[in-house]
Amino acid sequence: MRDMVGQVLVATRNTGKVAELADLLRDLDVAWLSLDEAGVAFEVEETGETFEENAVLKATTYAGATGLLTLADDSGLEVDALGGRPGVYTARYGGAGLTSIQRYERLLQELAGVPWKRRTARFRCMIALAGPDGLIGTAAGVCEGRIAWEPAGSGGFGYDPVFYLPDQGLTMAQLPAEEKHKISHRGRAVAAVAPLLRRAVKDGER
Ligand code: IMP
Repeated sequence: MRDMVGQVLVATRNTGKVAELADLLRDLDVAWLSLDEAGVAFEVEETGETFEENAVLKATTYAGATGLLTLADDSGLEVDALGGRPGVYTARYGGAGLTSIQRYERLLQELAGVPWKRRTARFRCMIALAGPDGLIGTAAGVCEGRIAWEPAGSGGFGYDPVFYLPDQGLTMAQLPAEEKHKISHRGRAVAAVAPLLRRAVKDGER
């Protein structure tokens, strides 16, 4: 039993995401597993209409299937001039098979002519924590910014080069990773879920 509670499944096949979470929550004495490492062969389809629905669906389904404490996240970009799009469709924005660069170029095109003060946007992240008995809780993180006129910077991933942070005067892709984690939607959601996870790990050890 000790082995089971000493492990946390991160609902992703991206080992970079697992390493990032393990680093952000390094004070927790647990082993972090990806879906592949946990032997999960099936995918949960992100059919929800909100980030929360998708995160909860993934966390509860994978926790139910594996019996492991499971963290799942869902995130995306909301652009005010587009009525909140692409939102939960951020990963698929512009169509299938595009590169990240093609997706953000498409976004810049869609916003051509939109003035600076109307280019407000935010990254949103929702994290859900579930155990074999169901949902334990959720935590959210938001990072406000504007869609830049043109890409800048080479760090991060996805839409980072076109996400401008007014307080820093830089795009997200121009920030060193530790600085990004401090202010990013995901960094904030992880910080918010940490107490829940700590308690769940402790409860499991009793
Ligand atoms: P998901 O949470 O893995 O479904 O990702 C949603 C999509 O949002 C990703 O494919 C990225 O394009 C975008 N996204 C989420 N977080 C970030 C970020 O920190 N920087 C840039 N793009 C992001």
